[in-house]
Amino acid sequence: MSALLQTTGLEAGYGGVQVLWGVDLDVQENETVVLLGPNGAGKTTLLKCLMGLLPTRGGSIQFRGQDISRLPSRARVRLGLSYMSELAVFSDLTVDENIDLGALFVDRAIARRRRDELYALFPILLEKKRQAAGGLSGGQRKMLGVAKALAAEPKLLVMDEPSAGLSPLLVSTVIKSLAQCRSGGLSLLIAEQNVKFLELGDRVFTMEGGRIAFGGTPAAIQADDGLRRAYFGLGV
Ligand code: ATP
Repeated sequence: MSALLQTTGLEAGYGGVQVLWGVDLDVQENETVVLLGPNGAGKTTLLKCLMGLLPTRGGSIQFRGQDISRLPSRARVRLGLSYMSELAVFSDLTVDENIDLGALFVDRAIARRRRDELYALFPILLEKKRQAAGGLSGGQRKMLGVAKALAAEPKLLVMDEPSAGLSPLLVSTVIKSLAQCRSGGLSLLIAEQNVKFLELGDRVFTMEGGRIAFGGTPAAIQADDGLRRAYFGLGV
């Protein structure tokens, strides 16, 4: 069976600087993959390439059996790829408007049904649907980011550091809500520095200096002395 998403030898950069050096990564149907790596490893760059926000300079991106590396972002969204950036929501817009924006490229009937489902999943957002996103708490804003990204009814949700700016308690809340979202055939690719997200991962890749350094199960990371020390600190 072919992968839902497969990058092969992906290369990218900014101006004269190459950042990605031949990245091979895959996500299967119904799978959650965590991409771990320190600041500057190239995680955001990789996600931008997947979404068509940054052109690739070499290699290929296969999604649902087709090469999408030359497709515009909106075509990728229509194929079932959705992105939650670190910022994720527009503060001046209401909760409702943010969710509508997430569904910009999908059929209106699907968008309406989807919005009802999302409000059922995140009742706190329904309560605040007419409020500006900027007035929500950090955790609620993150939920809205997730809801906005799910409004397009994706097959694969690509997330950039969902833990950014959140307290440990709120990180746990976001992890719980993501676990809930996974039912119904959704795959996740989560770029993170926070190893708590390994709880969600079926598999994990580590990235260093624009290259994949390790790919395997979360248990395999724990079993490897060097990786355990690098990602969990000494003595864990
Ligand atoms: P972080 O968690 O800090 O976002 P990251 O793993 O996502 O880290 P990237 O943001 O992809 O890493 O950055 C990888 C490298 O690319 C870094 O050296 C960074 O300075 C560089 N870089 C990122 N964005 C740009 C840009 N717009 N122009 C030039 N260089 C950039």
